[in-house]
Amino acid sequence: MALNCGILGLPNVGKSTLFNALTQAGANVANYPFCTVEPNVGIVQVPDPRLQALAAIYHPKKITATSIEFVDIAGLVKGASQGEGLGNQFLGHVRAVDSLVHVVRCFDDPEIVHVNGEVDPKRDIEIIETEVILKDLDTVEKRISRVEKKAHSGDPVAKAEWAWLASFRDALMGGLPARRFLRQIPETAPPELSALLSELGLLSAKAVLYVANVPEGDVLKGNVYSDRVFEIARAQGEEAVLISGKIESEIAALSGADAELFLRELGLSESGLSRLIQGVYRLLKLRTFFTAGEDEVRAWTIEAGTHAVSAAGKIHSDIARGFIRAEVMRYEDLVALGGAGPVREKGLLSLEGKDYPLKDGDVVYFRFNV
Ligand code: GDP
Repeated sequence: MALNCGILGLPNVGKSTLFNALTQAGANVANYPFCTVEPNVGIVQVPDPRLQALAAIYHPKKITATSIEFVDIAGLVKGASQGEGLGNQFLGHVRAVDSLVHVVRCFDDPEIVHVNGEVDPKRDIEIIETEVILKDLDTVEKRISRVEKKAHSGDPVAKAEWAWLASFRDALMGGLPARRFLRQIPETAPPELSALLSELGLLSAKAVLYVANVPEGDVLKGNVYSDRVFEIARAQGEEAVLISGKIESEIAALSGADAELFLRELGLSESGLSRLIQGVYRLLKLRTFFTAGEDEVRAWTIEAGTHAVSAAGKIHSDIARGFIRAEVMRYEDLVALGGAGPVREKGLLSLEGKDYPLKDGDVVYFRFNV
């Protein structure tokens, strides 16, 4: 499963700063609207304190965290759907990611050009959203013109498709991103509809997490701009996180202990990047399970509801093919009792079959035979 997340926003809002902090990759940070022309891709480890707790029990040779890929998408400007700025190139990159982190500028700085004059989170969000929606509208209209004739000739399948497409078009024209109107589609909708939707690959259907990028001094309480971002997110049923890109890049340059000290001085309990990554995790409805032994303690990412046999397949196709059973302990039990032995003795280890839906925090040993 390619787990990737695009970082999106107007030019000069702090995307590259954030991306750099996330990946410490040294992408080109500069006061120039199109400094990240090619998308920069970075792999980010998902911080999870449970790995250290498991390592304290197993003393493994190796600890492996799970990861998310971040793509820094070049700045979008008004008119991108018509080819302005990096227009179509930009929108092509949006198509390639699973989810979006939408960075909104919540800092005043006369030195840093704002492409549309002054800072205004509501307008900025709308510009991005509008371009994405216009592109989707184009996609839907092209499809409508393809099925229209067939629908008029009375073909029932084409007629049904046409009706759905027309309702998508109306919603998009009303400014509603696809992710929001999709939430309103009844569960009784025909399966052809989801096939149609994935075929269309609508950009505005992707899950969005808003990042309010505030100055250092506003990182605890936010400011009038970030309040606006949170209001908009709440009204749309999306999530938002408060981050100071500047602080994050300073933290990223520090070692673990120094970073913790710095965070404490600022009055923060964890870095904004941890919160961001956790937000993306929630956004994509992801869960973590663990494998643990003397060789390695490792975290694995799965989608909510993934069955034991598919999870086994993530580790190795042989394990899925020869799957016998999964021996499952709860992370909490293991840590509370201090080891697999006591968990077993207390009867807290369960044997599960192929269809067992893994839960977040399961520590799993797969028995298999090939
Ligand atoms: P991008 O175009 O969205 O990728 O923006 P960048 O990350 O390249 O940032 C553009 C400029 O804004 C750079 O000079 C950053 O140092 C600066 N910048 C980023 N975040 C902040 C912030 O929170 N406060 C201030 N004053 N400047 C920032």
